[in-house]
Amino acid sequence: MPELPEVEGVRHYLDRLLTGRTVTAVTVVRPKIIAHPAPEVFVIRLTGQTFAGVERRAKFLLLRLTDGGTLVLHLRMTGLPLVVPTDAPQKKHTQVILNLDNSTELRYLDQRQFGRFWLLEKNEHDDCTGLAKLGPEPLSRAFGPKKLAAALGGRKCPIKTCLLDQHTVAGIGNIYADEILFAARIKPDRPACALSPAELSRIAREIKQILAAAVAKDCLSISEYDVQHGVEQRDAEKLLVYGRAGEPCVRCGMPLVRTVIGQRSSYYCPHCQH
Ligand SMILES: [Zn+2]
Repeated sequence: MPELPEVEGVRHYLDRLLTGRTVTAVTVVRPKIIAHPAPEVFVIRLTGQTFAGVERRAKFLLLRLTDGGTLVLHLRMTGLPLVVPTDAPQKKHTQVILNLDNSTELRYLDQRQFGRFWLLEKNEHDDCTGLAKLGPEPLSRAFGPKKLAAALGGRKCPIKTCLLDQHTVAGIGNIYADEILFAARIKPDRPACALSPAELSRIAREIKQILAAAVAKDCLSISEYDVQHGVEQRDAEKLLVYGRAGEPCVRCGMPLVRTVIGQRSSYYCPHCQH
């Protein structure tokens, strides 16, 4: 599943290739990918629209339209939006195609078909995307230790589970939760309510630093190739704990371990995370 930094990379990629482009035709190959409105209404409303820019909220992509509407996209497990020339061969798992006015197409590929599009009109009340229920955006200026403490609200569940809850902090996935807790030297199974203000400050700081560093690395020059193939390659070289059970900790040299917290694989150093 793409994590926030990868989604930010995709945002950058789409913003560069879609802004100013007009949709000349829409093909919905797999209707269930269109969550709102009904697929046939989606096609009619989106045809003729022009993209004003692409924003991101947590792991949602917000493709702004010049009429004030928004095309919302969540990639979920295997969603992959590509902008390619109209005559490029069509790949397997292409679910939605938007023809654009410059002989390119936005093709949405999704092998497992969990990704979704929503088309919201200007001022339409959004009761379908789940955007309204998201917790604070970790890369926003407003986010810090106070916001984190308020969002955790003294919960008793493991801090790692809380970080993955999109209502607590929006956009942190399994991989970066482990990296954040390693950097903050906090054991992932500590109950959130047992963390001191100093520990919460370290976690809040590392959330920002680790996500911002990953975003900076990922999205500066992202290409179609990166969008398709780059995520795993980049992850493998920059991750310090995730997927590294048995390898020596970069801080203390002791072997890292894998455990399961809230049904998710979790990696940490039992020696220097407390
Ligand atoms: Zn260590």
